[in-house]
Amino acid sequence: MKLSQDSQLKMQALFDLSMRARAGIYIYCAIWLVFVIAFDFVAMSIPLVVINSIILLVMMAIRIAHMSYIKNANEDNVQLLYHLLIFSVLLSALHWGVLTAWVLTFESANNASHLMLIVLPAFAMGGASALAISNVLRIFYPLALYVPPLFMFYYSQDPLNTVYAVSILISYIYIISASKYPRENYWSAIKNHLIAEERATELEQLSTTDKLTQLKNRMYFDEEFDNEWRRSYRLNAPISVIMIDLDHFKKLNDTYGHLFGDEVLRRTAAVISNELKRPTDCIARYGGEEFIALLPNTDAEGAKVTGERIRHAVESMQIEHDDKVVRITCCVGASSTVPVSTLNHTDIIKRADSALYEAKRSGRNRYVAVNPEE
Ligand code: GH3
Ligand code: MG
Ligand code: MG
Repeated sequence: MKLSQDSQLKMQALFDLSMRARAGIYIYCAIWLVFVIAFDFVAMSIPLVVINSIILLVMMAIRIAHMSYIKNANEDNVQLLYHLLIFSVLLSALHWGVLTAWVLTFESANNASHLMLIVLPAFAMGGASALAISNVLRIFYPLALYVPPLFMFYYSQDPLNTVYAVSILISYIYIISASKYPRENYWSAIKNHLIAEERATELEQLSTTDKLTQLKNRMYFDEEFDNEWRRSYRLNAPISVIMIDLDHFKKLNDTYGHLFGDEVLRRTAAVISNELKRPTDCIARYGGEEFIALLPNTDAEGAKVTGERIRHAVESMQIEHDDKVVRITCCVGASSTVPVSTLNHTDIIKRADSALYEAKRSGRNRYVAVNPEE
């Protein structure tokens, strides 16, 4: 199913945001470990170390579970997954902010405070620029880190804390202004990328499609045939080619005009397509009024059933000109084989072509097969 452009953008942003937020999961845990070991937090407060470690581990588990669930993202849940990611990232930041405020407040943890004051703006700046994809994170991620220590500074009597508070506020303004451009650049880059991808798909579609009948063209068929031939060779599976050529089409053009001829070609293309039931079957316009069908995993018996069905469907078309039904018939030439190394994939086309010639020669409106085994 093709996603809307909006959903594709959201999906891409979700993947990218998740990748960018990934480092944060481990960094919080790693730095926390440094604090616990370097400043002997265990001696200070065992409950603090245990509770905090559990919180970090739970948040890490939630983020990892979220990351693995992203693989199942679809149009319906992409928005929810995006919001959940933002929420859990903000929760991690708020937790770290509270921890910072605690370390700065707690007397016996005071020797860890200088390291906390280095780590805090580093997280705020790094996080805001890496997560700038989301406007909410760009603004609220540093805020969630900063608000708890700012509260603590506000209620503290130490004049140095006022200096800290002012510096933090200045750094926040810098973060907000500096993260604006990475955000704009990201969104314009993925939009342009999406447009370029859509154009490339459109161009590819155009270059492989026959304009008149909207079937695949010969170039596409040749490539597809080459791939299927090699696949059938590897799997030791049968493969069949069916060529269809409308009978006396020149006369039809001469009698009813080229525009009517074109209409007949369009209708015939639709009728033939309709008779090919398997998703692996491929039909293409091979030349003027010639069509070719590739039937992977189909032996001579299957090719005959399909070929006869096509011939009958074309014969049964009710195409009118001046209120009179014009009878259209075709010849079908087929060839089937299980690919072997001594056989070239063009050989089977040559055989289908000679089968077609034989069908024409023996009176038209018929199915003929020429197979290597025969
Ligand atoms: P046969 O029964 O032996 O196949 O006779 P035929 O007249 O169908 O065969 P021939 O190959 O001599 O003529 C094919 C004709 O198909 C020639 C051309 O006028 C017509 N044709 C080829 N391409 C197109 C097309 O795109 N539109 C129309 N209207 N006619 C086309
Ligand atoms: Mg022809
Ligand atoms: Mg013809």
